[in-house]
Amino acid sequence: MGKIMIIGAGGVGSVAVHKCCQNDEVFTELLIASRSIEKCDALKEKLQGTTKTKISTAKVDADNVEELTALIKSFGPDVVLNLALPYQDLTIMDACLAAGVNYVDTANYEPLDTAKFEYKYQWAYKEKFEKAGLTALLGSGFDPGVTGVFSAYAMKHYFDEIHYIDILDANAGDHGYPFATNFNPEINIREVTAKGSYWEDGDWVETEPMEIKRVYDFPEIGEKDMYLLHHEELESLALNIKGIKRIRFFMTFGQSYLTHLKCLENVGMTSIVPIEFEGKQIVPLQFLKAVLPDPASLGPRTKGKTNIGCIFTGVKDGKKVHYYVYNVCDHEECYREVGSQAISYTTGVPAMIGAMLVMNGTWRKPGVYNVEEFDPDPFMDALNKWGLPWQETFSPELVD
Ligand code: NDP
Repeated sequence: MGKIMIIGAGGVGSVAVHKCCQNDEVFTELLIASRSIEKCDALKEKLQGTTKTKISTAKVDADNVEELTALIKSFGPDVVLNLALPYQDLTIMDACLAAGVNYVDTANYEPLDTAKFEYKYQWAYKEKFEKAGLTALLGSGFDPGVTGVFSAYAMKHYFDEIHYIDILDANAGDHGYPFATNFNPEINIREVTAKGSYWEDGDWVETEPMEIKRVYDFPEIGEKDMYLLHHEELESLALNIKGIKRIRFFMTFGQSYLTHLKCLENVGMTSIVPIEFEGKQIVPLQFLKAVLPDPASLGPRTKGKTNIGCIFTGVKDGKKVHYYVYNVCDHEECYREVGSQAISYTTGVPAMIGAMLVMNGTWRKPGVYNVEEFDPDPFMDALNKWGLPWQETFSPELVD
């Protein structure tokens, strides 16, 4: 039915490529383009012959708008799926505009020298995409992504007004290393060492990193310590969910992860300020990334499950309603299916679904949009079909 170009062949890119190839009635042609062409070629070699999707590969520097525009024009995709790093979001959006192609990503833009992600940079492209008649779908991973779709689904089917949202992201996976991150270490560590924040009564409330801790008994996983973080979907949901009073985001961390992180932070290894080392400028966090295990290598070692979902409190027909919708994903099952652990899987599957809905016109409207601004039902159906089935309850344990 259509052509997709995927930029980035890391953990998430690999899963999205596998899923597009499974969905070969929809994705008839696929170009995998990334900085290291070997990773693109390895995926092509593994998958061609297992799928009707015609796969090609290319080397590209997504920081270079001209080079990228030329590649997009020569392939002529219906949609570009950006699974490189948040630093490339704006150059890839520029190239999509120049080439006249729809755009989908999973993480919002973050300047390389400031560890603070905000939607303002990408929302500023709204008029350009409107004028070009193109759709840019932002944040079609799990969180952000499915959490926004869950919110739109709750709003559409179960609430007149949602007052409180708690997004809970639990990873009970064990990879056996004392310290490793489940996705790009640089992005992950920038996120968790930043100040926390939540949105309440129209304002942001800032916290120290890891200041707010709760214990939650997760379905199929059990009790875990979780900590309040700032997270990008808080920003868009605060605008898009009617009647909202408070949104918080919690993520689980084990004691070993936190102890190692504190130590690395205390010695300056998580800093993004360049230092002089043996006559060269290096960024400590980028050096740390180079010595940590590659998240893609965790797949065969990780056992256990993730549980990511949202708890909503609000009113329907004048009555108070609580609603919890979540997905449980098993690391080992993901590895058996696509050769990746569940963190990459839970991001790569919704990325493929978002690209499919934009490509087939179900979620097409000119401009720049977050996932909760579209009809959630086709996305919710596709989650069940493509490997991320969800469960729901109207009597969840609440977070205090
Ligand atoms: P990886 O580091 O594993 O992969 C990133 C890929 O992008 C690599 O193949 C890398 O190339 C490529 N790349 C980096 N810079 C460039 C460039 N300038 N030009 C071309 N290619 C480039 O990261 P992940 O797969 O873990 O994460 C991918 C994205 O998914 C990130 O933006 C991350 O924030 C997001 N994410 C979103 C989640 C969600 O739920 N919404 C959850 C997890 C991740 P090379 O191989 O040469 O390094």
